[in-house]
Amino acid sequence: MLNLQQKNVSIIGAARSGSAVAQLLSSQGAKVFVSDKDTSGAVTAQIPLFKSLGVCYEFGQHTERVYQADLIVISPGVPSNAPVVHEALSRGIKVVSELETASWFCSSPIVAITGSNGKTTTTTLTGRMFSDAGRKHVVGGNIGNAFSSIVSGLSRDTIVVLEVSSFQLDHIDSFRPKISVILNITPDHLDRYSGSFEAYKEAKGKIFHNQTTADYLIYCYDDMQARELVFTKALSYVKAVPFGIQRGFESGAYVRDNKMWTSLDGHEREVIDVSEISIRGIHNLYNSMAATLATQLMGVSVASIRATLKNFKGVEHRLELVRELNGVQYINDSKATNVDSVKYALMAYDNPVILFLGGRDKGNEYSALYPEVERHVKTVIAIGESASKVEQAFQAKTDVVNASSMKEAVVLAHSLARSGDIVLLSPACASFDWFTNYEHRGRVFKECVNQLDA
Ligand code: ADP
Repeated sequence: MLNLQQKNVSIIGAARSGSAVAQLLSSQGAKVFVSDKDTSGAVTAQIPLFKSLGVCYEFGQHTERVYQADLIVISPGVPSNAPVVHEALSRGIKVVSELETASWFCSSPIVAITGSNGKTTTTTLTGRMFSDAGRKHVVGGNIGNAFSSIVSGLSRDTIVVLEVSSFQLDHIDSFRPKISVILNITPDHLDRYSGSFEAYKEAKGKIFHNQTTADYLIYCYDDMQARELVFTKALSYVKAVPFGIQRGFESGAYVRDNKMWTSLDGHEREVIDVSEISIRGIHNLYNSMAATLATQLMGVSVASIRATLKNFKGVEHRLELVRELNGVQYINDSKATNVDSVKYALMAYDNPVILFLGGRDKGNEYSALYPEVERHVKTVIAIGESASKVEQAFQAKTDVVNASSMKEAVVLAHSLARSGDIVLLSPACASFDWFTNYEHRGRVFKECVNQLDA
């Protein structure tokens, strides 16, 4: 729907992406109405913008006014199973995501990155590879600037690197990346898919829905769910490019003799010795392979990619080294809000670990962590609302102690840690019990760690 002149458009969600799309659509002549159930500062802060755009808005509820629309655009924060979405669809109103809407105004090549874990790291790394290679690009979507706020005025040769969540993919029509990336598919956010893993997986698969034989789909071959999705839904019409550690590929990225290799257009190239990659852990090796393939397919040289892989230090709150004190490393992995990411965090180290686990539980099944916990977790410090669930899950596996604040947990860890140990905040839970968000949780952890005396 490109001609939006005088069209009535309702936007659900008034925060970052919602207000960006309001601005974009107003500039296209649409009559925009924004509705948000929330009344917090995140949405009320947008009032001056809405006023300057002449956009009407309501906060605290979705009234009938929402449905007086030719089109409804939903922000990424609004679940597909929200009543307002159901109601709009049942009235036959077209519903699209902010991602879809912004893509109508984008003629630049898009690299879109999705997955249950690793999106931000891989998107940031991909952006860094383009920037180190001197290539014109912008990074946005789920991180940094909303897609809607970066599309205006883009030149055709600027590459758009987007972090894309499954919620954004739920309501697309024509969104078509030049390169799509699926990192992995593990249970997360199932509450927003009415508990259905298949529905969540299907949403991730929409990333390649509109791709053609001229486009590329990079995916993790070692991830059974991603592989199955690609094999059953994509192989017939898109150039699938796998990456994996367990085997080589005619076209893809892989590890041999402890080196990362790519094979593209019949040319095999040695990219880097795995030990030289700056971000650690097998999960980051996967992320590195995905970013390498995406940028190499867009013409970045292996020499430039290698230099970036050596220098890229990772993203804050993801296995971030805070401090080394008395031979103990304190690591902030506050972004680990699900079990799978904790498993990968533990796999990244061989040292004895004191692990902070807990927070707002998302229906976690902890048994997937048992092998790693038995291998090298000497103590679990149970924090947050779900401390007693954590205690029950791990008491037969290792020592478990409770802490009633982050400060107490850090002081406790300091007293238990010996030289060579790792103190790891990788909580497998959301942060909203004690903190505003995972960044806040990570910052408090870092503050407490930095206050410790030798
Ligand atoms: P996302 O944006 O998808 O949440 P991040 O890059 O922010 O991903 O990383 C989130 C968490 O997942 C971090 O704890 C990180 O250590 C872990 N992680 C990163 N990449 C992967 C991966 N490929 N597989 C599993 N876990 C990962």
